[in-house]
Amino acid sequence: VPYISPLLVPTATGRASSDGHRGRVAVVGLGPAGPQWLTPEAQAELASADDLVGYETYLARVPRRRGQRRHSSENQVEAERARHALELAAGGSRVAVVSSGDPGIFAMASAVLEALGEGNGQYAGLEVRVVPGLSAMQAAAARVGAPLGHDFCVVSLSDHLKPWEIVERRLRAACEADMVLTLYNPASSTRREQLARAIEVVSEQRAPSTPLVVARAVGSEAESVTVTTLEQLESDVVDMRTLLIIGSSTTRIVPGEPRLVYTPRRYPG
Ligand code: SAH
Repeated sequence: VPYISPLLVPTATGRASSDGHRGRVAVVGLGPAGPQWLTPEAQAELASADDLVGYETYLARVPRRRGQRRHSSENQVEAERARHALELAAGGSRVAVVSSGDPGIFAMASAVLEALGEGNGQYAGLEVRVVPGLSAMQAAAARVGAPLGHDFCVVSLSDHLKPWEIVERRLRAACEADMVLTLYNPASSTRREQLARAIEVVSEQRAPSTPLVVARAVGSEAESVTVTTLEQLESDVVDMRTLLIIGSSTTRIVPGEPRLVYTPRRYPG
């Protein structure tokens, strides 16, 4: 029996579908790529859904099932997709909203809860759950050893949903606090300056020799993961399917090949 947070289950009962079950929405994490990182819980949730909702690239990763409906959309319309999922569930459907990686990390879970909150009781009685997934940074970190072994923080470089000044302030604060820094959404085909600027900001406080991991499409056939340094980053290879891990002052590269990286658990002083 899956755990259902009582916080997410309002008291009124939702409409029941023809075969008697209540509508529900599960926001399901697919992991960063490939079936090897899809959890059994996520698999079960996808298998039992009447409707699948999500960005078309992510839906394409879910095997087709007879009788299951698919609603794919472009990536930019998260709020709309979230409302659509809640509408379907309000009609009695079991809905799975799919996200890459973990659905709570820069992904659909927030959008669904936001839509639920803005529904002003319209969705009372719906069961809404988040089914976790492996986040891309965990898969990327594992490929090169243990760069996230000590305190770290995660910043999205996308300035679609927040002003760039905030990004810079957070990068500086992370450097000030000497935390390992993971960067999601570092660049796209049109959005290139942000990465260059971010590297500039970080380089004000971190040594040129700081280890830097460039992890692209981890877990897929196009995977490429390289260990380099802050000064040697070749940013041309960085795209939408890439994340970066920038070491702290204690992060080390293990001598030898392949290059492995770790951040010790212990901090000096
Ligand atoms: N919810 C996702 C993150 C979505 S934001 C998660 O938990 O992983 C999208 C960003 O995630 C991409 O721009 C990229 O920075 C990163 N990403 C997603 N999948 C990836 C993969 N397989 N390899 C490397 N980075 C990935």
